[in-house]
Amino acid sequence: MGNIFGENMITTELLKNRAGFEEKIRKLIGRPILLIELDLFALPCGCAGITANMRGLEVDDLEVFEPQLIALLKEMAANLDVKPTVSFARLVPGSSIVASLNWRTLCQRCYPEFARGEGKTPRPDLYLLQFERRK
Ligand SMILES: [Zn+2]
Repeated sequence: MGNIFGENMITTELLKNRAGFEEKIRKLIGRPILLIELDLFALPCGCAGITANMRGLEVDDLEVFEPQLIALLKEMAANLDVKPTVSFARLVPGSSIVASLNWRTLCQRCYPEFARGEGKTPRPDLYLLQFERRK
């Protein structure tokens, strides 16, 4: 999927969004936060989405800047044409460290697992930022 310049559209978009998201999150939080890897993924079950592996982000940041972060998450999803059912942070178990931010379009099998959970932390390693409940 190259364009007339011989560039790959997907990787060009990923590179642009990696840099843009990192810059915005640094400005928002005011610390040198790194987005060390931005991935598009597909799972055998049918789930698909985006993972942003982070360095320097803490659970406290999610609590303090949640509305602004959710706006940045929505912007990234729209830029990469992903319509997530759920957006969440994955935490390093037993710590306040955010390992990654995740956007996931849930398959039929995984949806109930997320829908069952209550509150912000349905599992100790997850911090929910946004969840589209099915009617
Ligand atoms: Zn799934």
